[in-house]
Amino acid sequence: MNTTTIINMPNVETSRTVEQLVAGQATSDGAGVKLTRVLTQNLQHRLDPFLMLDAFGSDQPDDYIAGFPDHPHRGFETITYMIAGRMLHRDSAGHEGLLENGGVQWMTAGKGVIHSEIPQQEEGVMEGFQLWLNLPRRDKMNTPWYRDFKAGELPKFVTQEGVAVTMIAGESHGVRGAVTRDTTQPNYLDLHLPAGARFAQQLPAGHNAFIYVYRGEVSIAGKAVPAQRMAILANDAQADGVVIEASADARVLLVSGMPLKEPIVQYGPFVMNTQDEIYQALSDFRDGRLGETA
Ligand code: MN
Repeated sequence: MNTTTIINMPNVETSRTVEQLVAGQATSDGAGVKLTRVLTQNLQHRLDPFLMLDAFGSDQPDDYIAGFPDHPHRGFETITYMIAGRMLHRDSAGHEGLLENGGVQWMTAGKGVIHSEIPQQEEGVMEGFQLWLNLPRRDKMNTPWYRDFKAGELPKFVTQEGVAVTMIAGESHGVRGAVTRDTTQPNYLDLHLPAGARFAQQLPAGHNAFIYVYRGEVSIAGKAVPAQRMAILANDAQADGVVIEASADARVLLVSGMPLKEPIVQYGPFVMNTQDEIYQALSDFRDGRLGETA
């Protein structure tokens, strides 16, 4: 394990406040996988460069067993974080990987992949998240890229207050995440906070940021954020970061990034800048050109 104990918390003088609490929408996707869409399409501009966050969690096999058979993506990146369970990924670029307890799969769809995500269990809990990160216009048609990180390959650290941090992306307390991106500068942290502990993260005021509490409860600048809620953090000009205080033992995703400020046109699994580019994606998919490796 890449675990180091960090003595010094970064200094955050003024925390961002909570602009809005979001419960998300119960829905299903793929071949009938039940999930909660936490970051919905109407929030894509507010939370640019993030396009979607799905939370899935069930101990009922009927809720997940059918998985996500072959489907395409173009124009963005998908980051799947598996808290519990096992899922097999296969794609048209020839990648295959088993995603399980605590692992992350980072896939850059770029100009296009067709892939499947199928559960490899017939019972027990399946729990995790899928985050969609947009690509800038100039990178949308790049060659697809893919990597699996097992739980032990993700950088981790523990603060003096006992907050255990898993660094999926970005940088915190001087520790770099498994993936970094220059254009959108995403931070994606999983925080395990013991009751009473605080965690501070410096954030540029122009970056959009949110947290999602998946266990327990926290507060930010005096505002309670209960379990299964996303809190959108205000872009307060005077704030230099966020301070999260655990009211009870809590597990929290902290996500931030630099907005692209480009037009967003989404049609299902395709996210481009113009309607014409969406028509092109649909015709490429229909003609079997979307997942071509050549
Ligand atoms: Mn997919």
